[in-house]
Amino acid sequence: PRHDRSRQSRLLVPQATLQFGSKSSQQLKMENVIIIGSGCAGWTAAVYTARAGLEPLLLTGQQPGGLLTTTTVVENFPGFSKGIDGFELMQEMQKQAERFGTRIQLAVTVDSVDLSLRPFRVQAGSKTLEAKSIIVATGAGHRHLGVPGEKELENRGVTYCATCDGALPIFRNKPLVVVGGGDTACEEAMYLSRFGSKVYLVHRRDQLRASPIMAERALGNEKIEPIWNTEVEEILGEEEVVGVRLRNKVTGEARVLDCDGVFIAIGHVPNTKIFKGQLDMNDSGYLKLTPETGATNVEGVFAAGDCSDSVYRQAITAAGMGCRAAIDCERWLAAQS
Ligand code: FAD
Ligand code: NAP
Repeated sequence: PRHDRSRQSRLLVPQATLQFGSKSSQQLKMENVIIIGSGCAGWTAAVYTARAGLEPLLLTGQQPGGLLTTTTVVENFPGFSKGIDGFELMQEMQKQAERFGTRIQLAVTVDSVDLSLRPFRVQAGSKTLEAKSIIVATGAGHRHLGVPGEKELENRGVTYCATCDGALPIFRNKPLVVVGGGDTACEEAMYLSRFGSKVYLVHRRDQLRASPIMAERALGNEKIEPIWNTEVEEILGEEEVVGVRLRNKVTGEARVLDCDGVFIAIGHVPNTKIFKGQLDMNDSGYLKLTPETGATNVEGVFAAGDCSDSVYRQAITAAGMGCRAAIDCERWLAAQS
C-alpha cells in the first residue's frame, strides 16, 4: 500500500496527541471506556461516548480509519447524494469524534486483553491500560487464498488492495487478475480496468455474489473478462508475478494464465483473535452479541461493526452498531455508579 500511506498519515494527526509512553502515563489512568479500532464503528462509538462526557480513549490499530480508507467513492452512505471518498468520510468521522473530546492513540495495536476482572486490562506493546468498559470495533482483515506463491510474491505482484497498489507502474498496461466474486472484487476489477490492459475476474462459481448494480457494472466493462467456475491453484513467478495456474472446477481442466498482478478480494476474517477464550464468538470468529444490543457475554464489554457482523458488513451498519454499543456502554456505566 504505497500511495495510500501518505493519505493515512494526513488522516491521523489527532488534534490532541497523548503521551502514551510518557512518565505520567506509566501510572495507570482508569479510563471510562477504551474503544479498540478506528473504522466507522469505532469513530461512531467515539462520537457518542464523547458527547456523553465519557472522554473515550480510542486506539486506532495499524489501519487508522479502517477498511474504507482503502476504497475510492462510497456511494451508499446516506447523506452524501454525490458519494464521498472513503478516506474523506473517515477523516470527517475522526474530526467529529475529536470535536467532542475523544482522545486518540495513533497506530497503537492491542496485543492482548484481560477481561476476567474489572477494571479490564488492555495490553498494547509494553503499555498496560485499565478501563471500566471496552468497545471492540476491530473490523475484519483480508482473507488469504492459501495457495503456493501467494505469500512469497506478496508486494511483488500479489496484493489485497487495488486502490492502494493498482496505479503502480508494474501494473500499467499489463494483464491483471482479480480473484473473488463479491462487491470488493467487482469494485477492484473496475478500478484496475483504468490501468491494466485487461482484467480477468476469476470466480469459483458461475454467479457473482456482488450486489446487482456492482455486478452489472463490472460485467459491462469491456476490459473485464470473467472466468467462471475457476480456482487459482498457484501464483507463478520467481522475483515477481508472471501468471497464475487455474483449474476449472466443472471440467477439471488446468491452464496457465499470464498476468503481472494478482489482486485477491475474497472477503475478510474478523479481527478477533485477541479475544479468543474470553468473548463468545461463532465458528468463523465473529463476536456474538446479546440480541438487539451491543453487549458481549462479558459485562462491560461491547462490540460493534464488522468484527461482530457476519451478515451486513456495510459502513452504515458498522456506524449504527457503533452508536448502539456506545449507548449501551454509557447506560451500563451509569448503572454501576
Ligand atoms: P474496519 O473499517 O475494518 O476498522 C477496523 C479498525 O480496527 C481499524 O482501524 C484497525 O486498525 C482496528 N484494529 C484491528 N485490530 C486491532 C487491534 N488489535 N488493536 C487496535 N486496533 C485494531 N461498505 C459500504 O457500506 N459501502 C462501500 O462502498 C464499501 N466499500 C468497500 C470497499 C472495500 C474495498 C472494502 C474492503 C470494504 C468496503 N465496504 C463498504 C465495507 C466497509 O468498509 C466496512 O463494512 C466497514 O469499514 C466496517 O467498519 P468497522 O469499523 O467495523 O471496521
Ligand atoms: P464477500 O461478499 O464475502 O465476497 C467474497 C467473495 O470471495 C465471494 O464471491 C466468495 O465466493 C469468494 N471467496 C471466498 N473465499 C474464497 C476462496 N478461498 N477462494 C476463492 N474465492 C473465495 O466479501 P467482499 O466482496 O469483500 O464484501 C464484504 C462486504 O463489504 C459485503 O457486505 C459487501 O457488500 C461490502 N462491500 C460493499 C461495497 C459497496 O457497496 N460498494 C464494496 C465493497 C464491499 P462465493 O461467492 O462462492 O462465496
